[in-house]
Amino acid sequence: MTPPPSTSHESTAVDATDATAALPSILDLSRDKLTATMLELGEKKFRADQLWRSIYHETAPSFDDMSTLSKPFRKSLGEKYSISSLEQAMFLTSADGTTSKALYKLHDGELIETVLMRYESDGHRRNRKTACISTQAGCALGCTFCATGQQGFRRNLTVGEIVAQVIEMQRIAHREDEVQMSEGKRTKGELQGVTNVVFMGMGEPLANYRNMMAAIKVLNDGQGLNIGARHITVSTVGLIPQILQLADEELQINLAISLHAPDNATRSQTMPINQRYPVEELIRACHKYADKTKRRIFFEYVLLKEQNDSIEQAQKLGRLLNGLHCHVNLIPVNPTKEGPFERTDLSAAKLFQGGLKQYGIPSTVRMEKGIDINAGCGQLRERAIDILGA
Ligand code: SF4
Repeated sequence: MTPPPSTSHESTAVDATDATAALPSILDLSRDKLTATMLELGEKKFRADQLWRSIYHETAPSFDDMSTLSKPFRKSLGEKYSISSLEQAMFLTSADGTTSKALYKLHDGELIETVLMRYESDGHRRNRKTACISTQAGCALGCTFCATGQQGFRRNLTVGEIVAQVIEMQRIAHREDEVQMSEGKRTKGELQGVTNVVFMGMGEPLANYRNMMAAIKVLNDGQGLNIGARHITVSTVGLIPQILQLADEELQINLAISLHAPDNATRSQTMPINQRYPVEELIRACHKYADKTKRRIFFEYVLLKEQNDSIEQAQKLGRLLNGLHCHVNLIPVNPTKEGPFERTDLSAAKLFQGGLKQYGIPSTVRMEKGIDINAGCGQLRERAIDILGA
C-alpha cells in the first residue's frame, strides 16, 4: 500500500478550510432547500445545480474557489454562509499508511473523529477508500468497551457536520489519487476518491435518525459525492423502533448491528442498551428488517478476551442467528485506556469462527486497522485530551 502523500506521521496543525464558521453552514441545506434558497435570492435553477456540484462533486474549500459561479454570486454566498465548520485539530496516519484519523473541533469546541481506511484490491474487490464518520459528539449509550461511551453524550451532529466529514476525507482521497496519477501508478479513469461510507464513528447513528437520513440523501446524490446506497453502512447497537423505521425507507444501504454477545446476561454486562432491547427482541426485529428489505444484515462482534470469545458462546451465537440472512464480522478489540478488556488473539478468533460455521453462519475475522494511531472509536479524542488538554 502506497502511503498517502502528506504523511507527516502526525500533525497537530489547525487547518480550518473556512474562516467564517460563525455563519450558518450551507451543508445543512438539502438539495431542494438549496435550490429554493437560490431561487429566492434571484438566481436561476442551473446556478443552484452548479453550486451543488462545486460543493459536493468538486469539494471546493471556499466560495472563492467556485470558478463556475459569478464573482458577485460567490461574494453574496460568502456573506451568508460558511461551507464547513470542521477545524482539524489533529491528523494521524498509521505506520503502514492504510489508516488516517482526523480529530475535528466543531464551532462550539466539541471534538469528533473521522477515519479514512484504504484497502488494496484483493482480487474479488477493487481498491476502496472507506470514510468512517461520527454522528454524535460523545454517546449516551455507555458501552463499556468503547472509549466514546466512556466519555458520555455531548450532542447530536447537524447534517452539515456529518456530511462535512466525508467531504474532508474526499479531499484527502483525491489528493492521493492525483499523486498516484502523477507517479504513473493510476490512470485518470481509475480516480475514485471515497468509495464507501460507514456510520461507525462516535455516537449511535439511529439516535440521530433525522440528521443521519438527511446526510445519507446528500451523500447518495449522483451529482455530488455520489456514494451509492450499497456502499453506505449504518451501524447500530440495536435501537429496535428505528431499525423498523429504517426498514420502511426502501433504501439499499447496509445495516450493521453491534451485537457483541449471544445472550442477555453477557450482553448487558458491556452494553446497557440490552436492558431496554434484549437480544431475542433485537433478533426478531432483524428478521423483520431482512424480510422487508431483502438485504443481508451484518453483525459486528467485538471479541473480548474471556468475556464473549468462548467456543460455547460461538455456538450459542450460531443458534441465535440460525435462519437469518446475515454475515458476522469478528473483531478482536482495540483495548481502551480505561476499559477492562484485553484483545482476543487470532487463534482464539479462528476457533470462534469455527463454532459459527457449525451452524452455517458466514463470518470474517477483521483485524482493526490503525491500532498504532488509536483508531478505535473515541480513542483519538481521549488522547487529544491528554496531549492538548482539550
Ligand atoms: S459502541 Fe457505539 S453505541 Fe456504544 S457507547 Fe460506543 S459509540 Fe455509543
